[in-house]
Amino acid sequence: MAKQKNVYFFGEGKTEGDARMKDVLGGKGANLAEMTNLGIPVPPGFTISTGVCAAYYQNKEHYPQGIKEEVEINLKKLEQVMKKRLGDPDDPLLVSVRSGAAVSMPGMMDTILNLGMNDRAVKGLAGKTGNLRFAWDAYRRFIQMYGDVVMGVEHELFEEALTAAKKSKNVELDTGLAAADLEKLVGEYKKIVRKSKSKDFPQDPLEQLWGAINAVFGSWMNERAIKYRQLNDIRNLKGTAVTVQTMVFGNFGEDSGTGVCFSRDPSTGKNEFYGEYLMNAQGEDVVAGIRTPEQISALEKEDPAIYKQLVGIKNRLEKHFRDMQDLEFTVQQGKLFLLQTRNGKRAGSAAVKCAVDMVAEGLISKETAILRVTPGHLDQLLHPMIDPGAQKLAKSITKGLNASPGAASGKIVFSAKEAEIWHERGEKVLLVRKETSPEDIGGMVVSQGVLTSTGGMTSHAAVVARGMGTPCVAGAKGVTVQGNTTAIIGDKTFKEGDWITIDGSTGDVYEGQLPLVAPNISKDVNTFLKWCDEVRNKAIRGKIKGFDIRTNADQPEDAKRAFDFGAQGIGLCRTEHMFFDKEKLIHFRSMIVAETEEERKEQLKKILPLQQKDFFGIFKAMEGRPVTIRLLDPPLHEFVPHTKEEIDELAAHLNVSSDSLLPKIERLAEANPMLGHRGCRLAVTYPEIYDMQVEAIAQASVECVKQKLPVNVEIMIPIVVTARELKLLKPNAEKVLEKIFGEAGVKVPVKIGTMIEVPRAALRSAHIAKYADFFSFGTNDLTQMTFGFSRDDVTSFLPTYLQKNVLDVDPFKSIDQDGVGGLVELAIREGRSVKPDLKIGICGEHGGDPVSIDFFFRAGLSYVSCSPFRVPLARLAGAQAVINNAGKNIKGGESAKTGKPTAAKVIGSNKPAKGEKKMAVTSAKPAAKKPAAKKPAAKKPAAKKPAAKKPAAKKPAAKKPAAKKPAAKKPAAAKKPAAKKPAAKKPAAK
Ligand code: ADP
Ligand code: MG
Ligand code: MG
Repeated sequence: MAKQKNVYFFGEGKTEGDARMKDVLGGKGANLAEMTNLGIPVPPGFTISTGVCAAYYQNKEHYPQGIKEEVEINLKKLEQVMKKRLGDPDDPLLVSVRSGAAVSMPGMMDTILNLGMNDRAVKGLAGKTGNLRFAWDAYRRFIQMYGDVVMGVEHELFEEALTAAKKSKNVELDTGLAAADLEKLVGEYKKIVRKSKSKDFPQDPLEQLWGAINAVFGSWMNERAIKYRQLNDIRNLKGTAVTVQTMVFGNFGEDSGTGVCFSRDPSTGKNEFYGEYLMNAQGEDVVAGIRTPEQISALEKEDPAIYKQLVGIKNRLEKHFRDMQDLEFTVQQGKLFLLQTRNGKRAGSAAVKCAVDMVAEGLISKETAILRVTPGHLDQLLHPMIDPGAQKLAKSITKGLNASPGAASGKIVFSAKEAEIWHERGEKVLLVRKETSPEDIGGMVVSQGVLTSTGGMTSHAAVVARGMGTPCVAGAKGVTVQGNTTAIIGDKTFKEGDWITIDGSTGDVYEGQLPLVAPNISKDVNTFLKWCDEVRNKAIRGKIKGFDIRTNADQPEDAKRAFDFGAQGIGLCRTEHMFFDKEKLIHFRSMIVAETEEERKEQLKKILPLQQKDFFGIFKAMEGRPVTIRLLDPPLHEFVPHTKEEIDELAAHLNVSSDSLLPKIERLAEANPMLGHRGCRLAVTYPEIYDMQVEAIAQASVECVKQKLPVNVEIMIPIVVTARELKLLKPNAEKVLEKIFGEAGVKVPVKIGTMIEVPRAALRSAHIAKYADFFSFGTNDLTQMTFGFSRDDVTSFLPTYLQKNVLDVDPFKSIDQDGVGGLVELAIREGRSVKPDLKIGICGEHGGDPVSIDFFFRAGLSYVSCSPFRVPLARLAGAQAVINNAGKNIKGGESAKTGKPTAAKVIGSNKPAKGEKKMAVTSAKPAAKKPAAKKPAAKKPAAKKPAAKKPAAKKPAAKKPAAKKPAAKKPAAAKKPAAKKPAAKKPAAK
């Protein structure tokens, strides 16, 4: 068996690794090797591979054979290069033992400095350097760090001893302690170790070394690191590498120092050298914040030669890595050393600015630029957020689901009605409820944000808030709403009118009013998103050209906003919202309690002109882009009046007694409304409902034609389970269209398609395709019905499923690629086996999820449709999908029968920048199964046709965009959203 290499040396021309070996050496180790290769001054050392960490854990925390020897051979090598020996009483070598995984996890794992110090080495170091104070300081730092990290001595104990020493000398800073004080302190420290661990601080350098290596490998599995990986969806890493590296000392005196810097400003992206340093300090001092560091610009005056050298190195590294670098450096007695370089973490605005600038500088291609910006970055840009400084200081009092991104502050109100009343008075309110329902929409619209104690990512509150771009924290278990007057949040009771702040991007809830800062939407963001559009438009999969982003919008203002954000059409216009409008609702209710078809038609006639007006408004706002209108979908049950007031109101309207309505209302009740009388089933039983809607669509189209406005309508029939439903319903619709268009003497081509949202429809899609002009996947229902999980009730078990790894991700958030995705693929294949260029889209919540978008691209969908605020994010995620899948074999609409998959390609794809490696793009790889990237959201123009108009982008800080208010001052219930929650849920009764 060939012996596996586990340890890689770097330094003095003996480098064995390089930047490509991150998987093996960790990011830190790989880049230390790379810098060494580039001739940049790096203290020599060696890196133990991540594979050893993996083996260590697989092997019940035992090392694989041969590791000890390999490490010791490399240590010898290091001693030869440095001409010093670990523990040498005359001239000791000191090393650091550093952690580093393939993906950087700053500060999450352990590092030990000054290793090799002991009672004899301290004297050797003092003698060799002629700096007694420095030697004792190094020793006491080592005991403190090693004692804490490796031996598990309580950190506080050392701090107390240090404070006492400073006190007795009457000095404030460590630097005030003299050599003798530090020597004494070392004695104290050793006592502390002995007392708390019943053993002496180890003097043997090799014992120290292995103790430190164990600790670093051990830190891979510490709670902090595990949590960090969870929170950041870091999976499938082997473990951490361990780098043992010669120490250099920034605390040697006034000609020494240490610092951290970025090649560009990580919060704005400006091409300005940015960073901080401290003279006469060791690395951890900068982080610990004991002394305030200087701005890097000050170094130019303090030490121009070092500054110049540092600038040269950062420029070189940035060019080399073609990305903004985050550097650690140390100056020892006027000599500069680099200790780390990595691609710098950056804020959203900086990500876009760096990407756009670097393309202009010829450093990277547009494709690379697109992959550099994550959906999370874009998300940050499009919503107000809590001032980062304030957020750092604030303490979250409870946490729920990060249901709709952005931050909001407001005075607590407990009902939608109160929200509106307070809003009228000019107050900023935050709606706090157990859950929300369609009745609450008016109050949600005027609220800064919404906080609920129950419900999941697709609960009513979450879906509607995302649609409106209102920040929302849902399902916060730490919130108990007590009637309409108080709520316990965390462990404190809040009254109506108390201020709270929520962060819908993290799910955190804070007491009081935290300052918010405005999203920063720049010209760069526009430019960037246009590049994304270019990439998507050029994508070709089989017969499918382009990969469009549409939006789900039911109101002209929503539609308008979505275009400003760059939507290419409406993929889902729900019509039930129109029925919930107060004016129409009464007619609709009258219709459902009517006994005869005649009566029903009578009532529907009254709704017709109102719907027609709604449609006309949308067509006009669409300016000729496709609009997919879904005919009535929700259960009839949801329209049935339930409360006494509602029944009385209806009775009065119909001029009958309330009692006479009751039997009819009772008959309409359903045990499982979501599986009951809904969607096209309503039209099979009552054809006049869809007839009326189609007529309204036709009349609105005629009006457009008369006003010379372009119109592009697609009618979509929901909840289809069999081709025969369409066979029955499509001709009905066509008859109405023909009649209206005939009477008006106009011709408007109208496509009639169907939703695929019931598993049976997916299975029977070859048959259904015969009658459908297009398909659109309703992935919310399809997920609900495939899993048999009621999406309104998942919060009672889904969190546990995720926690126990029964499921990887919330299937309502990110498409279940194996199960639901399998149905999607099947339906596409079958549908296109009948109609090879069948247009197929998706209009569920998943249309705004980056990982799902990647899947949908690969599956061959023509477009995804998402809520207006997610459009910019989808534009990016769609482009990333195109780039990441370039060259892969994608069954882009090939028929299952002729079945030759064709490679997806980007025509005339962007060339790599000069010298840039092709596909050197490693950043935002949507590994087929990474769960939902950050939160998406949106807010950015880049219209398709008319020269982009700036959106009524979210105003600074806390201000609500006018666009969020309901159209005119309509009655509260003006905008009923996706009605979902069945009012009554009977237990599965016998
Ligand atoms: P982290 O990943 O938490 O940043 P590092 O391994 O980078 O941990 O080390 C923490 C600090 O110690 C950094 O400031 C680093 O510059 C410093 N440091 C690490 N190794 C050495 C060394 N060989 N000489 C001097 N300083 C070092
Ligand atoms: Mg570091
Ligand atoms: Mg549906």
